[in-house]
Amino acid sequence: MFDMFEILMEDYPIAVYAFTFIFGLCVGSFLNVCIYRIPENQSIVVVPSHCMTCNKKLHWYELIPLFSWIFLRGKCSGCKSKISAQYPLIETANAVLWLIVLWAKGFSPDMFLYCALVSALLVIAIIDYRTKEIPNGLVAFCLAVSVLHAVVDSFAYTETWLDHLLGGFVLGLIFFLVLFISEGRALGGGDVKLMFAVGFFLGIKAGVLSIFIACLLGSVIHIALMKIKHIGRELAFGPYLAAGYAISALWGQQILAWYFDKFIALSF
Ligand SMILES: [Zn+2]
Repeated sequence: MFDMFEILMEDYPIAVYAFTFIFGLCVGSFLNVCIYRIPENQSIVVVPSHCMTCNKKLHWYELIPLFSWIFLRGKCSGCKSKISAQYPLIETANAVLWLIVLWAKGFSPDMFLYCALVSALLVIAIIDYRTKEIPNGLVAFCLAVSVLHAVVDSFAYTETWLDHLLGGFVLGLIFFLVLFISEGRALGGGDVKLMFAVGFFLGIKAGVLSIFIACLLGSVIHIALMKIKHIGRELAFGPYLAAGYAISALWGQQILAWYFDKFIALSF
């Protein structure tokens, strides 16, 4: 079964990349639905796709990711009101993220878990940025993906369950303490739950690395935004956590190996 993936990648690399990109666009289209409907507590499966302004039900050819938006020139075919550029942007962002996952992780069953993870993180980052909330359903989804990932890992290595559990509890505990000490000003409860899922996916070392990356990105980008765009001090940490999490998941092992090789080896 695992060989089949390797053979496909060796014989038809362009087809694999094209498939990943197109499938990424389609899932990106679904992510748009999640981004708009989850904060409103609307169903993400039952309500058919419709124009936000005139409620016109969309035809199948108006639902093709990215291309429909270009073909309709960003306007509804019924009422001519503008369709937000966020739709094609999220679709493209998700497809590009999936290509990065394929490039970093290779074509394997595990790749689909990483794809599911970065897509969920994309949705979390945008919802947290807009509403300053991280919905529980999305955290639960991340945790489910993390458990599946630990199962896949446990076939490949031994004794990884302990590492996954330790990662989850340590990261959750660190964030819980920050939440407790700052009396909820620095973080929200959603961040703590998300960090439990993060730690569980990554294990302890890459988990700590992800917090470090998130803090680094958060402070650099937020200070730059405060200076350039004069935004307030209040920071939605979710987008940075999501970015730190994704970077550590994809390249954590390489970054840690490089760090230990460069700095720890020298000190002996
Ligand atoms: Zn319309």
